[in-house]
Amino acid sequence: MAGYQYLTYELLDEGTIARIMLNRPRARNAQNRGLLVELGDAMLTAEADDRVRVVILGGAGPLFSAGHDLGSREAVAERADGPGQHGSYGGHGGTRAGAEQRMLQEWHFYFENTRRWRNLRKITVAQVQGAVYAAGLMLMWACDLIVAADDVIFADVVGTRLGMCGVEYFGHPWEFGPRKAKELLLTGDSIDAGEAHRLGMVSKIFPAGELAERTLQFARRIAALPTMTALLIKDSVNQTVDNMGFYNALNACFTLHELNHSHWAEIHADKAPRGLPEDGTPDWRSAPPVLPARRDQVSGAAS
Ligand code: ZN
Repeated sequence: MAGYQYLTYELLDEGTIARIMLNRPRARNAQNRGLLVELGDAMLTAEADDRVRVVILGGAGPLFSAGHDLGSREAVAERADGPGQHGSYGGHGGTRAGAEQRMLQEWHFYFENTRRWRNLRKITVAQVQGAVYAAGLMLMWACDLIVAADDVIFADVVGTRLGMCGVEYFGHPWEFGPRKAKELLLTGDSIDAGEAHRLGMVSKIFPAGELAERTLQFARRIAALPTMTALLIKDSVNQTVDNMGFYNALNACFTLHELNHSHWAEIHADKAPRGLPEDGTPDWRSAPPVLPARRDQVSGAAS
C-alpha cells in the first residue's frame, strides 16, 4: 500500500523501531474504515520487516482515539452505496444482508484484526494521551505495553450511549477486573492514568509534553532485548491468558455483541443496530460528558 492517508509510518533507530501514528486529529483519530485498513497494512509491514523489533502505536493531536468513526463526513461517504464506497465493503460479508453482513464485517475489520495485532510477531507499545474511548481501548489493548500521558482518561461509553454490551474485542474484564468492568460499562464513567496504573493496565505515566520522547526511550530499552527472548516472553504470557480462557471468552463475547446489534436492528423500523433515544440511550452526538468514576459519589460531578 503506497502512502497512507490516515496514519503515518516511520522507522527510527536504523529501523529497529517502527512508529505508527493515527493521523486524523480533527476527527479525534476516530477509526473510519480507511484508517483501519491502512492500520492493518502498517502492522503487517512492521511484522514483515526483520529489522523492526518494537512497534509504537500512537495518535497525533490531543487524544489517542475516540473510538469507531460513526459520523464523520469521510466515514459516511465510505459506507454509502455508489462509486465512492470504500472497497472493503465489497467483500468480507459486505455484499450479504442483515446480521450476516454485520457479523462478517465486524469480525474482519473490528475483531479479528485486533486479535491479529495482539499476536503480532513484534513487541508493541501503545502511546496514549487525552481521551481513549470504546474502540480506542481495543487498539490500545491489542498492544503488549501501554504508556500514557498524565492527562489520559479511559472510558467505554457504548453501554450508556449506544445500548451495546461493550466493544467487539471484549478485553474489559481482563484489563479492568470483572467488577470494575461492570461498573465502567454500566455507568460510562472514566478512570484516569493513576487508576489505570494501579490496575496494571498502564506501565508508565509521563507528562504529556514528554510522552513521545519518553515512549521512544522505553521502546529502545525493550528493543535491546534479543528478539527471540522478547517474542517468547510475549507468547508465554499470551498463551497463559489464552489457556485461562481469554481466547474463548473473546469469541463468546463477540457473539453476544452481535446478538446485541441484532436486537436493536430487529426492533427499529430503520434497522438501526444500536440503542436510540427512545430506548433510553441519548444520541451519542449530544450525550452528556464522560465523568470520572468517584468512589464517594453516585455520579462524578466536577469536584
Ligand atoms: Zn459492533
